[in-house]
Amino acid sequence: MSPPRYVADEAALDHLGREAKQWTCPHCRRAGTLNAHGALRGGAEHGPGKDARRGRRFFCSDRGRRPGCGRTFSVFLAQVFAGASVRTAAWWRFCRGRLAGLGVLAAWEAARSGFSLESAYRWWRGWRRAEPALRSRWWRGREPPEGLGAVIERTYGADDPLAAFQVREQRAWPGFAS
Ligand SMILES: [Zn+2]
Repeated sequence: MSPPRYVADEAALDHLGREAKQWTCPHCRRAGTLNAHGALRGGAEHGPGKDARRGRRFFCSDRGRRPGCGRTFSVFLAQVFAGASVRTAAWWRFCRGRLAGLGVLAAWEAARSGFSLESAYRWWRGWRRAEPALRSRWWRGREPPEGLGAVIERTYGADDPLAAFQVREQRAWPGFAS
C-alpha cells in the first residue's frame, strides 16, 4: 500500500502512525520499514501560524538490521502548499477575487490572509502559468462559460476547493508555484 501525499485533517494525520507499517516506501519500495519521524511545522511568515502543523514526516529505517533506505518523506495536510506558508483557503480567497476581476491589491486586501503583497504577485504568476492546464482540465483549453472559479468550486466545493483537490487527487494543486 502506498502512503498518501495529502490527508484531509489533523485527525487523519494522527491516524497515519498506525498505518505506516503497512506502507511501501515511495523511495525504495520496501514494505514494513516506515516509522513516524516527527511533525512538519511552521512556515508562516508571522503570527499564530508560525508553529502550525503542516504534516508528518516518515522515516524508512535503516538502523540496526532494518532493511530500509534511510530516507524520509512527508505527508501533508491538504490545506498546505509544499514550500509556502499560505494555506489553501486564504489563497483561494485571493484567487476568487482576481478571477472576479479585482486587481492584485484589492484581491489581496479582501483575502485578509496574512501573506505579503509581494508573495501574492509571485504566486499569482504561478497561477497564470498554470491556467492553460487548468482550462484544459475543465474546459478543453477554453474559458468555461461560468468562469474558471465557478467550475473549480462546483467540482471541489466552495469552502476550500484547493484543499479538496489535493486530498481527492493526491497531488499538489497545479495552479500554485511557491
Ligand atoms: Zn525506503
